Amino acid sequence: MSLLEKATGNFWIDNGLVALHRMLGGADLPEDVNTVVQQIVGRIYVETGKTAKYWDKAIGELLTYNKRNWKEPTGLFISVVDAVPKVEIEGKQYYTRPPEPKIQIQPKGKNQRCDFCGALGATVDAKLYLFPFVVDPGKFGNFYSSARRGLKMCPRCAVAGFAAFESWLWRRQGNTYHFFLFHTDLDRLDALQNSLVLPLQQEAEGRSGNFNAPFFGEYPFENLFGLLLCLFAIIRQRESEGHLDPILAELTGAQAVVGSPIVLYTISGAYGGQSFSMRALNQFDRFQPMYRLYCRWLERLGTENPHRTLEQVFRQFQHRRQQSVETLWREQICRAILQQADPMPVVESFLYDVSVETRRALSYGTLEVFQIYSQEVMKMEEKLLNILSGFGYHLGSQAAQKSEMGLLYALRNAKNLDQFLEVLNQIQFTLEMTINPELLRVEPNERIAGAPWNRVKTLLAIHAMNAYLRTKYPTSTATSEGGEP
Ligand SMILES: [Zn+2]
Repeated sequence: MSLLEKATGNFWIDNGLVALHRMLGGADLPEDVNTVVQQIVGRIYVETGKTAKYWDKAIGELLTYNKRNWKEPTGLFISVVDAVPKVEIEGKQYYTRPPEPKIQIQPKGKNQRCDFCGALGATVDAKLYLFPFVVDPGKFGNFYSSARRGLKMCPRCAVAGFAAFESWLWRRQGNTYHFFLFHTDLDRLDALQNSLVLPLQQEAEGRSGNFNAPFFGEYPFENLFGLLLCLFAIIRQRESEGHLDPILAELTGAQAVVGSPIVLYTISGAYGGQSFSMRALNQFDRFQPMYRLYCRWLERLGTENPHRTLEQVFRQFQHRRQQSVETLWREQICRAILQQADPMPVVESFLYDVSVETRRALSYGTLEVFQIYSQEVMKMEEKLLNILSGFGYHLGSQAAQKSEMGLLYALRNAKNLDQFLEVLNQIQFTLEMTINPELLRVEPNERIAGAPWNRVKTLLAIHAMNAYLRTKYPTSTATSEGGEP
C-alpha cells in the first residue's frame, strides 16, 4: 500500500505520511520501520560545529569527535539521551564513546487499536517525538480527547509522526514558538508541500525560523498573517508567470476545490526549559477571500514594489519600549482582519497612543490599505469613505496649524452619538470649518450616512490625527523600515 493511500485525518500524522512518501521516493514502508527511523535521525540529529574529546578504551587515547544535537526546534520534543559511561582522566570526566541517542520503535502486544488510523495490531505508546502536541485535554478537549489515557500508535503512524517534523513551517521569538502545518487529502497535501512549503523552507533555515517572515512577534495571529503574506507573494508571482499548479489555483479561488478544504493549523507555545507548553491552536481556511483582498491591496498600492509597501504597513504597528518591542497592536489588527472583524479601533489606538509619542504619521499606503478593507470587508460605501478621508485630512491639518490637538482627542474620546455631534459642533466653531452635511445625516439606530456612528467617528479620528502628524512633523512620515525585534 502506498503511503499516500490511507489518511488518518490527524494533521500531524498525515503530514508525516507525506514526508515519508517523499523521503522514500514513493516506495512503501519496509518491514522493519527502524531503518527508516535511523534515516530520519540522520536528517535531524546534526553536527553542531563544535568538537569534544572521548576516551577510546581500545587504543587508550583521547580522540576528538564532532558534537551533534537535534535540529532546532525538533529538539524541544526529544528527550532521548544516551547514557554513555564516563571515565576520569587527569581529573576530567570523558565519555567512553561519542553519544548516540537511540530512537527505536518497538511495537508491543497484539490486537491493540491505533488511536490515529484505527488499525489493529502491535502498538507503541505515543511519545512527544512521535506526536508533539499531546495536550491538556481539559484545555484543548476538542483537539484530542483520548489523550487522558495515553495514545497508542501503530508502527506506520509512529514513524510518520517522527517524520512530520520536516513538514512544518516555524518561527521563534525568544522562548515563544509558532508552528504552521497544512492539512488536506494526502495527495493534495503532497502537492502543496512540493509547490509551496518546500520553496518557502529553502529560503531560510536559521535560529529564528525556517521561512523569511516580514515581521514577527510573540503572538499567534501576527505570525500567521506574516506567513500568509509570504505565501501570497509566491502564488501571485507564479500566477503572473502563467504557471499556477492546480493546488495553488484552489488557494486563489481560480479553480474549484476538488477534495477536503485546505486548512492551515497554527500552534503557538513557549519552551520553559523543560517542556513545550501550547498556548494557542488555531485553524485558518479562508485563503480565497484573503488572497482576493491581498490582490486588491497590491493593485491599489500599484507603486514600484506594492508587496513591500504592504509589509511595511503591517510591520509599523509595534513600539519599542526599552529593551523589548511590543507588537500587540499588530496582533490585534491581524487578528481582526483574519476574522473579518473591524481593525480600525486598534489603528486609532495606535495613532493616539504611539504615533503621537513617536511623532510619526502612518506609513505610506496605510490609509489606502484600510480604505480597501473598509470597503470590501466592512461593506462601507466608497462615497462616505472619501468624505471621511477628505474631511479628516482638512480637520487634521487645520488643527495642526492652530495647535488644537485637544479637539482631536475629544473626537477620539467621544463615547456616544451626542458627544460625537457635540465635538463636530465644536470643530465647526473653533476651527471655523464647515462640516460636510453627510456627516450630520443621522439615521435610525445611531447610524450616520449608512454606517454605525462609532465607525464614522473612528475613521474620522484616524484621518485627522494622521494629517495632524503629517503637518506638524512633515519630515518624519514613517517610510523607514521600522525596527525589527
Ligand atoms: Zn496507525
